[in-house]
Order: sequence, then C-alpha cells, then structure tokens
Amino acid sequence: MDAYTQPLDWSRVSQLAVDPMSFLQIPSLDHADAPPLQLLTPPCSAVSPIPSPPTPTVTDGDTIVPVSTTFFPGANIIASPPDIILLSSDSVFFYVHSSVLLGASYNGFKGLVSSSQNRNCGPTEPVMPVAEHSSVLNIILHSIYDMSCSHYAPSFESLSSAAAAFPKYGLSAKKLVAQSTPLYNLLVSHAPLYPLEVYALAAKHDILDLAIPTSSHLLSFPLASISDDMAENIGPRYLKRLFFLHLGRLDALRRLLVPPPHPHAQTETCSFEDQKRVTSAWALASSYLAWDARPDLSTSTMQSALGPLENQLSCNLCRVALREKLNHITVQWSIIKRTI
Ligand SMILES: [Zn+2]
Repeated sequence: MDAYTQPLDWSRVSQLAVDPMSFLQIPSLDHADAPPLQLLTPPCSAVSPIPSPPTPTVTDGDTIVPVSTTFFPGANIIASPPDIILLSSDSVFFYVHSSVLLGASYNGFKGLVSSSQNRNCGPTEPVMPVAEHSSVLNIILHSIYDMSCSHYAPSFESLSSAAAAFPKYGLSAKKLVAQSTPLYNLLVSHAPLYPLEVYALAAKHDILDLAIPTSSHLLSFPLASISDDMAENIGPRYLKRLFFLHLGRLDALRRLLVPPPHPHAQTETCSFEDQKRVTSAWALASSYLAWDARPDLSTSTMQSALGPLENQLSCNLCRVALREKLNHITVQWSIIKRTI
C-alpha cells in the first residue's frame, strides 16, 4: 500500500468519528461500471454501525479499506464535511468537497460534480471512479486544496501525469503551478534531475515562472540531442528561448575572450614587440577555450585554461595585465544571464 493511503479500520471509525459522513457504506471496488456508484447513508443525525465493504482486505478480524491519509472522513481540511468521494483506479477512497472541486474546475471536474447536488444530508452518497492512480489523484487534489504533498515524495512521473490530467478535469495548470504554489515548488525541486522534462511541462502550459529557473539546469544540455517528440512537446516559443539562451551565452563568452590583456608602456626589458607574443599566446589559448566551450563553462575552467599563460611571462607588468584580464572576464562571465 502506498504511503499516501492508510488502511481505514472501519470499526474504529464508527467509534471515533464525529462526522456523520464517516458512517458510509463502502461500495464495490470494481471500476468496471461507468455510472457513479451510490452509497447508502443514514441521515445526518443518525449513528449506525458501518457495514463491511464488499471486497475489503481483512486483517486480524478487522475490515481494512484503503483511504487517503489526507482526504479521509473527518479530516477537517475545511470547515464543512466532505460531500463527495473519489475512487482512484487502484481503489483508494478520497473524501473531498464538491464546492472546492467546482471552485477550481471549469468543467465540473470532468462533469463528475454538479453544483445542484446536495450531498451533505442526502439519502445517497455518490462515489465517483476516476481513471487516475491514487498517486496521481493525490497530487491533483493537494494542488486543488493548495496543500503541499511533498511529504509523500511524489515521483516526477506522478507529478507529470497530474499536470497532464489538469485540462481533463477543467483545472488551470497555470494557476495550480503558479510561482510559490506547493506544486510549483515540487516541480522546481525535480528540475535538476529532470530539467528537459520540467522545461517541457512548463512550456506546454506556458508557465514562464517555472521555465525560467529550470532553464539554468539546461545549460549543459546538448541541444542537438533533443528528439523530435521532445521538440514538439516544448513547442517553438520555448524552444527558441532555450536556443537563444545557449547561443547568447556562447556569443558573450567569445566577446569577453577576444580582447587581449592591455599592453603596458615599453620598458627596458619588455618592448611592444615582446608584448605581441603575449597577445598571440592569449589569442591561441582563448580560441582553444571558446572552440570547446559550452554555455555552462565554469569560471574555474576558465581560470585553469588561461591562468597558466602567466608562467610563460618573465615581465611583471605583463603578468599583472594578464591577471587583471582574467579577473575581469571571470567576473563578467559570472554575471551573464543563466536563464531564459
Ligand atoms: Zn611586459
């Protein structure tokens, strides 16, 4: 059983729960029937023992049913009790609020929820089977309720599937993955490991606030290896931004490297002719560096590639000029924009 579900001991619930909605008959876990399942419930004021579900796991004589550890009867997520039950494809129950689902969805949560339905004290309690696995539905519902599900450590695949399901349920990815939302923070945390996938997800839903921080993790990514499918997923606008990020940084690097160290006034030991040799050596070393450089070139690599030139110089003034040049390009390179 997954971490986000708990076996609900129905005999204990019947003793502890104060929410009448807790006293529900559990429907068949079979998803084969398309129409919403109907649960018989007692009136709100009634208290009655809970019948055993038709197909539960039985442990030590107690009836066990998988129920979300966040969206369970009596969870008190909001002031009112849950009035609708979603059943995931792996038969986990999620007790949620139709008002919250309707507030977030423009299509009645794929038409599963109707505002005219009054379930609080109704004689029947519908259970809505959904196609998503509980790991995905868990993320969708946490996002709708603006709650973090980071403690469940969801995989990127689950996060991606949840985001992909948003349009189907009439949910706005742009709103649910807006900057500083729990889902946004989770996706950003996966960006170092799945930079291209997170970038594609951001691009697909036009979430620039997510694409920007993710793009810094793509500086080392060889753009030539992007597959046709991935390019199509990302789309022309965000693909162009990514290419311009790479090309822009490489162009900036070349512009920094081309000018040689400043010459100094002639001395008895170092003429302008002598200093031409410094210029030539710089041009050779910097060309070598620029030829192989990637947009994520580190300042330490820059220093280790160009710093040894100093060992070939006997003139102290030439050495100082070289150090100043290196310091200058290191600082400049570190402040060049690293994101789209
Ligand atoms: Zn010199």
